[in-house]
Formats: sequence, C-alpha cells, structure tokens
Amino acid sequence: MSHVFPRHCHAELPTAVAGDGCYLIDATGKRYFDGSGGAAVSCLGHSNVRVKQAIKDQVDALAYAHTGFFTTDPAEELADILIDHAPGDLDRVYFVSGGSEAVESAIKLARQYHVENGQPQRRHLIARRQSYHGNTLGALAAGGNAWRREQFSPLLIDVHHIAPCYEYAERAEGETLDAYAARSAQELEDEIQRLGPDTVMAFIAEPVVGATLGAVPAVGDYYTRIREICDRHGVLLILDEVMCGMGRTGHLFACDADGIAPDILCIAKGLGAGYQPIGAMLCSKQIYQAVSDGTGFFQHGHTYLAHPIAAAAGRAVLQEMLERDLIAGVRTKGAAFEARLRDRFAQMPHVGDIRGRGLFWGIEFVADRATKTPFAPHHGLAGKLKKAAMAEGLACYPMAGTRDGKHGDHVLLAPPFIMTEAQMDEVVDKLARATETVLAKVDMS
Ligand code: PMP
Repeated sequence: MSHVFPRHCHAELPTAVAGDGCYLIDATGKRYFDGSGGAAVSCLGHSNVRVKQAIKDQVDALAYAHTGFFTTDPAEELADILIDHAPGDLDRVYFVSGGSEAVESAIKLARQYHVENGQPQRRHLIARRQSYHGNTLGALAAGGNAWRREQFSPLLIDVHHIAPCYEYAERAEGETLDAYAARSAQELEDEIQRLGPDTVMAFIAEPVVGATLGAVPAVGDYYTRIREICDRHGVLLILDEVMCGMGRTGHLFACDADGIAPDILCIAKGLGAGYQPIGAMLCSKQIYQAVSDGTGFFQHGHTYLAHPIAAAAGRAVLQEMLERDLIAGVRTKGAAFEARLRDRFAQMPHVGDIRGRGLFWGIEFVADRATKTPFAPHHGLAGKLKKAAMAEGLACYPMAGTRDGKHGDHVLLAPPFIMTEAQMDEVVDKLARATETVLAKVDMS
C-alpha cells in the first residue's frame, strides 16, 4: 500500500522510474510523451546532460549555505543572466523554491515598498478572475478561480477581482479586438477608482493565463493600457510568469511579446526545468532602493532561499536555452505545432477554441460550438481526456471548466523545447485519438 498522499486520493498512478528526452517511463516500461512538461515545467526534457552535471558538481562543491550569512556563485551568476535579459529596469532577483513562494514574496514586497515610501494606506490588491497564482494562502487569495478558493475563503485576505482578457469567451459579437482590449483594461481603471486610487497597492496578472484558462494570451494593446493605468495611479504591476515565462511562449520573458515591463515579476517552473525546485521574484531598482534606504531588509524569507544546488541547475538551464538558441526554436516549432493542432482539431465537433503562443497551447472543448456552451461538470470531460491520453502514452494537463459555465474543459499542452517534428505528429495523433474516443462516448442527451 502506498503511504504517499497523492494529489487525487483515488487515483491509481503509474510509478515513474526514468526520464528519456521528452518521455517519462513507468515501472512496466511504458513510455509517455510529456505533452505538458508536467505543468509547463520540463522545458529541456528529462535527460539534459549539462543540467545534471551542474547539479552533481554543485553537490560536490557546496550543498547549502544560508543566505543570512553567505551568497554563492551559482546564485549570483543566475541573477546576472536573468537581469541581463530582463525587461524594463528589473534589477534584483530574490530566489525562492517555487511559484507560490515567488507570488507571496511579490505581494509582501509590494506592500513593504508602499510602507517604506510613506504610503501605508496602499493595501488593496487587484487580480483577475480565472487566474491561478499558487496554493499558499496569499497566492490563493490572489487567484481568481472560485472552485480552488471556495473551501478556504474564510482564511483568505481580501483581493479584488476583475475580468481576465479572455477573448474567446468574453468578446461581444461584432466588437473589434482593440475595442475588447480597451473594455477589458478599463475594468482595472474602474476598480481602482472604486477602491480609491491612493489605497491600491498592486495589480497582479499572468501575461498568458495558464492553469485556469489554458494558454490564453491577452489581445491587442491590453497590457500597454494596463501599464499606463498602473503608472497613472502609482499602482505596482506584478506579472506572474511562473507558467508562461522562461521561453515557453517564444520569449525568455512572456511580457516581451506585449512590449511592457512590470515592477515585479515572478518566475519558476521552466527556470529549474524540473531538475530542481526553484522560483524567483525580480523587482525594479526603485523598489529595491526604497527597501534598502528604508528598513534595510525585506521583511520576508525562507530557509531555502537561493539554494546553491537549485541555483546551479537554473544557471545551467538558462545557459542551455541561451547558448543553443532554444527560444528561437520555440517560436518556429510553435508555429509548426500550431498548424498541426489547427489542422487536426479545429473541425472536431466539440472543439471551441485553440489558442496559445510559442509551445504553450490550450484546446477548449464545448458542448455547443455555436453558443460556446461548456460541457456540464457531470461529464467530467477533462478527467476522461487525461485518462484516455495516458492510455495512449501521452501525459497532458487537463483542466475542468468552471462551474459558473463561463468556460469549458480544456487540455494544456506545453511540450519540451527539444521536441522534434516527428514527435509533434506523435503528440497530435495521440491526443486526437484520445479526444475522439472520449467524445464518441459523451452522452449529450
Ligand atoms: N503562478 C502560476 C501562474 C502558476 O501556474 C503556478 C503553478 N501552476 C503558480 C503560480 C504556483 O507555483 P507552484 O506550484 O510552484 O507553487
């Protein structure tokens, strides 16, 4: 009997014993193509020699040094690489162990910045519905997924949620993309006005929404407008690129595609590529300076900040990405992958939308394409798709639609950047077979 507390209590999970490039191998020898990189984590596949060697070397040299006493070469060098490529005036990097910790750090740093700046009345955080920012209490409060929040709502800090920029579901008929982007961004302006502009601390959003909507980028000049609104009101812009960052969308930082820079940026997942748990929060010069000139330290911290082995892995991951120009490959492979997905899925009767950027794609399923009505939750479509895909030898991330009926079940695809053209065909074939099997059995009566 297993004593591991699994994510889903009744799930019977295969035991993963090995990784080989884009594949995971279970104890029976069955191979699964890692179609979602776990949850957009394994961007370099599972057997990258350079990253593995970097970890081994770091274990031999130094496993751990507390950041209260020491800095280390891997942490310093990883920070240098990130800052060399970071947008805007992001200037400092705070290394943590994952995405939720990065978001918690961002929320607290935003608050501390305003306090140091003589504006302690700035306490409101604005976020978006259908977002995911992590599962610790602060990050969960920021997230706008009603189902994830429900049980814990009495424990959550107050966060104010506006609509996501989710064109497929929310753009009105006849409305242009630009008009929709403007209407969507206006929600932030309205919410700031409602709360009182000098009481708002920060706005947090994912440039490409991952775990709740399935690879939904903003449209038009949405983010230019958001940046302008934040600037006008002294509200910090926090971008959560935990899932969509680190090359996944064809840019090292996802916001590069939107032509803006945040004040605080969160990354994780692809930074360690699954070889080590590591995340980071990057902040602007101005924010760092305010804390440095004020209290003199960020009132936050964890035991494993800037862990040397994790930092060594992150440094090797970024060196691989940059020296092998893998991110340019994400753009070209992304275009080829998109073409295959559209070719194979666009005409399927229950496929509502195919959207994404780079090697980050979502397919949304609906009961009725004309009305975009999602499948009722009792169909359990996402879970069935996951099971059928696993039977085919494809691991891909399913997400159930929301109970408010606003968006449907979908699968998220985030394959490793090293995927070949032949493997693209394999993923598309396996997913198409799994989808056809499941949809053929859905009882629409
Ligand atoms: N933010 C985003 C956008 C995420 O997708 C996730 C994880 N899915 C998190 C934060 C939380 O990261 P972690 O699970 O590493 O705590």
